[in-house]
Amino acid sequence: MVEEVFSIELGASEKLTLKRNRYKGTSEKRISIVSGIHGDELEGQMVCFLLNDFLQKNQEKITGIIDIYPSVNPLGLDSISRNIPFYDTDLNRVFPGFQKRSLPERLANALVESVKGSEIVIDIHSSNIFLKELPQIRINSIYAKKLVPLAQYLNVNFIWVHQPVDSLSSTFTCTMNKLGSKALLIEMGIGLRINKDYCYQIFYGIINLLIKEGFLDYKLDISIKKPLLSPGGKIHFINANQSGIFISETEHGSYVKKGQILGKIVSSLTGKILETVLSPVDGLLFTLREYPVVYEGSLIGRIFSE
Ligand SMILES: [Zn+2]
Repeated sequence: MVEEVFSIELGASEKLTLKRNRYKGTSEKRISIVSGIHGDELEGQMVCFLLNDFLQKNQEKITGIIDIYPSVNPLGLDSISRNIPFYDTDLNRVFPGFQKRSLPERLANALVESVKGSEIVIDIHSSNIFLKELPQIRINSIYAKKLVPLAQYLNVNFIWVHQPVDSLSSTFTCTMNKLGSKALLIEMGIGLRINKDYCYQIFYGIINLLIKEGFLDYKLDISIKKPLLSPGGKIHFINANQSGIFISETEHGSYVKKGQILGKIVSSLTGKILETVLSPVDGLLFTLREYPVVYEGSLIGRIFSE
C-alpha cells in the first residue's frame, strides 16, 4: 500500500512528498529499505522497482512488514541534483534532523521518525558521478559485530569495515544504528546511471536477507556471493599525482597485479602522457575513476589486497 509519510508545500503550487510502499504479513517485525537520499544516485530506483514487482507477485509469502522508501530526495531526483536543490544541502549530513527547522532537516526528521522501530534498515547508494564501485557494504567498526553477519546475506562483493569517521555521524545509517536498528549502507555502481547487473545482484541479496531474517517465506534458487571482508586485508588508495585527463586501462572490478598499469593521465593540449598510474599491490580493484578530469590528489581507485 502506497502511503504518504510527510509532505510540505513549497509555494507556486509545488509540494514535496515522501512516500513509502508497505507490505504486511502477520508478524509485526519490520524492515525498511530506503533509497534516493542523494538525488543523483539512481540504481536504488531499479532495485526498488524489482522489489515492489516481486513483493506484489508474492504477497502471500510475506511474513513481516516490509517498507520501501524509493525516493527520499525527490526534488534532487527531479533536478539531477545530489543535494536538495535551493538549499544545496547534502541530506545525508543532517540526520537525525529537526521537526521545526529548514526543509532538509524536517525531511530528515520525518524519515527517521517513520523508519524508527525497524529491526533492519537498508540504505541504497550509488557512489557519485566520479567513481564506479563494486557492490559493497560499508560498516562503522563500532557496529561491526551486529552488522557483518547481516551484510553477508546481501550478495555484495565486498564488506568494508572502517574506523568511525566524525563527518559520517550525521548520516542516515549512523543515526538508525544509534537508535537501535541494524542499519546497512550499500554502495554500488556510479551516479546518474543504472548498472542492471548490479541492481539484480542487490535485489537477490535483499530477497535473500528477507528470507534469512524471517520477512519472507520463499525459496531462492541462486547462489549468494561470499563477500571479501576488509578486516582480512588492507585497502590501498590510489591518487593522481598530476592534473589532466585520466584514461583507464583496467577493467573495474578485476584483480590487478602489482605494477600493472591502471591507466594514464594525459594532456589533451601537448599530447604527452603526464603520469602512468600503476597498481601498488596485487588485489581487487573495487573502486575506479570514471569521470576523466583529474587534479593532483584526485582519487583514481581503491584496491583491496588480502
Ligand atoms: Zn549516496
